[in-house]
Amino acid sequence: MTTPRLILHGGAGPWEKDNHEQVLEGMRQAIQIGWDILKNGGTALDAVEQATIILEDHPLFDAGVGSFLNDQGEVEMDALITDGATRDFGAIAAVTQIKNPITLARLIMTRTNHRFFVADGAERIAVEFGMQLVPNFTFITEEEFANFKKRLANQTAIEPGRGTVGAVALDQNGNIASATSTGGSPHKKKGRVGDVPIFGAGGYADNRFGGASSTGIGENIMRHLLSKHAVDLISSGVPAHDAAVAAVEAVANSIPSPEVGVIVLDSKGNLGAHHTTAHMPVAWIDKDGTPQVSMTKPYNI
Ligand code: ASP
Repeated sequence: MTTPRLILHGGAGPWEKDNHEQVLEGMRQAIQIGWDILKNGGTALDAVEQATIILEDHPLFDAGVGSFLNDQGEVEMDALITDGATRDFGAIAAVTQIKNPITLARLIMTRTNHRFFVADGAERIAVEFGMQLVPNFTFITEEEFANFKKRLANQTAIEPGRGTVGAVALDQNGNIASATSTGGSPHKKKGRVGDVPIFGAGGYADNRFGGASSTGIGENIMRHLLSKHAVDLISSGVPAHDAAVAAVEAVANSIPSPEVGVIVLDSKGNLGAHHTTAHMPVAWIDKDGTPQVSMTKPYNI
C-alpha cells in the first residue's frame, strides 16, 4: 500500500493585501478535507476535487466565489481535472453559471465521450447531469466589484489578493490526480481562456511519474506546458523539488518575469513547489501526517 500525499496551491501572484492569515486558514481547511479522504482510503480524484471545492467556495481565491471579473464585469471560469491512472482529463472553459467548475470537469471526464466543453455548451451538459445553474452575481464579491470599478476608471486597485487554486494527490493505491480551477486574470477580455483547462499546461498526472498543477500568467504557462514539463523532468530522474524549480526556471529563461508557479508530486510521494512571484500559498501534509502551510518559497517540504 502506498502512503498517501497531498499538496495544494492558492495561486502565484503578488498577494499584496494584508490577508495572509485568512488565506492560509482557507488553505488549511481545504487540505484537511482532502487529507481526511486520503487517510480513510479514499481516491486521489476525490481528494483533489473536494479540496478544490473548498477553495472555489472561499472568497479569497480566484476560483468560483471571489473570481476576478472580466472586462464586461462578469465571472468566467475554467477548470481541469486529471487522472494519472488512465492519463485522462476533463476540462471546461468560460463557464459563468457553474457553482463548482471542478465537479463539472470531472463529470465530463468520467461520463461523456468528450473531454473539453466551453461556455453555454458546458452549462448545457451540466444541466443534463442534474447540476443547477447559479446566477453569475453569486460569484462576485463586494471587494472584487469595487476593484473592477476602479480598473474601469483606470484607477489602481489594491490587488490581486487572490489566486487560482490547485491540488495534486497520491492515494493508497498509487493513483495520482490533479485539479486546477480559476476565474482567470483580472479584467481579462471576455472569451479569453488561460492555461488552466489545457491538459499539460494547467495540470497533468501520470501514475508512472507524478502530477502537477500550475498557476500564474496563463499565456506564459501554455507556451511551456508547465505542468507536463515538470512531470517530464521527474520521469527523467529529477527529484520532485528540483523538477518544480527547473520547470519554472525554464519558463523564466525564455520569458522575462513570467509570474508563474507550480506544485508537483512524484509517484513515490515526494513533493515540490516553486514560483517566480512574491507569493504562492501552498499547503501540504508532511511525512508525519501534519498539515503545513506557507505563503512563499522555500517551503521546506
Ligand atoms: N493561470 C490562470 C490564468 O491565466 C491565472 C492564475 O493562475 O493566476 O487564467
